Amino acid sequence: MAQFELLARCPTTRARVSRLTLAHGTTMLPTFMPVATQAAIKGLTPQQVESLGVTLILNNTYHLNLRPGTKVLSEAGGAHKFQGWNKNLLTDSGGFQLVSLSKFTTITEEGALFESPFTGEPTMLTPEESISIQHAIGGDIIMQLDDVVPSLSPDHARVEEAMERSVRWLDRCITRHNASGKQDRQNLFAIVQGGLDLELRDRCLTQMLERKDQVAGFAIGGLSGGEEKDVFWRIISRCTEKLPEDRPRYSMGIGFAEDLLVCVALGIDMADCVFPTRTARFGVALTPHGPVNLRLAKYANDFGPIDPECPCPTCAEGTSRAMLHGTMTKETTAATAVTIHNITYQARLMGDARNAILNGTFPNYLKTFFATYFGDVGYPEWCVNALRSVGVDLLEGGEVKVVSGSGAKWE
Ligand SMILES: [Zn+2]
Repeated sequence: MAQFELLARCPTTRARVSRLTLAHGTTMLPTFMPVATQAAIKGLTPQQVESLGVTLILNNTYHLNLRPGTKVLSEAGGAHKFQGWNKNLLTDSGGFQLVSLSKFTTITEEGALFESPFTGEPTMLTPEESISIQHAIGGDIIMQLDDVVPSLSPDHARVEEAMERSVRWLDRCITRHNASGKQDRQNLFAIVQGGLDLELRDRCLTQMLERKDQVAGFAIGGLSGGEEKDVFWRIISRCTEKLPEDRPRYSMGIGFAEDLLVCVALGIDMADCVFPTRTARFGVALTPHGPVNLRLAKYANDFGPIDPECPCPTCAEGTSRAMLHGTMTKETTAATAVTIHNITYQARLMGDARNAILNGTFPNYLKTFFATYFGDVGYPEWCVNALRSVGVDLLEGGEVKVVSGSGAKWE
């Protein structure tokens, strides 16, 4: 089983630092997990990712199951060996992508029925099958199959059904996992559902906490689907309030810098998102002053690096914004260079947060981040509200503008 040690707590917020030891080494939390859809992260070798200090990545079960498939993965000895990745790996259940990518998916009590992209035949993904596929992939952390409903679904009865079914599917996943003999190397996480309804979330939490001894950690699912941010943070906060101290907490699909830091302040330990690596391929570099769109004409004669303070190979070797601007749409090298930078940016954001929590200076870290990132455009109101709920007043002692909406900074 995973070893989870709590090392420090922020005396003001609910942020914490912990050490998670899995079969492929130690990962310090809070952490951001880059998403490697197929096998490696697009544009990078696993060795490049490892050299950036990343110790935990996410692989998509849906994609690995299609190609190379479980037979090849089993022959290879799992996805670690198949892709040459020596650090920790988390696999999702495959359910979310099934629902979002397949032409038709019908959810029944048995599982998710979908059309095979190869044969067109109806194919069933059951909770047991999802766990078996994840066993073949060999992820250090594996996720239960859950019944996913879009967060903006107006159908309350369906959201409730999906929440209750996710609890029943968790039991089936636990049974399959415990019968496999893989529990010493692979660790099952439960996924809390219940949409945007606090009462449904509470009921889900109560039931899932009864299964605490059977799971290594808890994820919060069913968010990041375009819901109001002021609703989003209240759901996260309610969940972290009730989740046990001695298990890692994972918010799924979170990747913007401000979202990550708010979640950490609310007590989240892990997050994943395709955003930093996907946006890199579109020429957007993440910096302490906000995202920079390198395709804009103004960067054609900008000979400085993306971020002079950044230690990543792209910035440290002095690759200019002008060079990246000129090659962004023509050379894959530019996409690789910005991907390396963005992964480093996310890792530093979380690493600096961990250091601040350990040093007892996390509230100041939050204030400095928001002043640097949003000082010129105004702070997103939901961030101000969320952080105020855990004792940090971003507006204290300064003349700051507050803006409604997401407040995302895009040029
Ligand atoms: Zn950099």
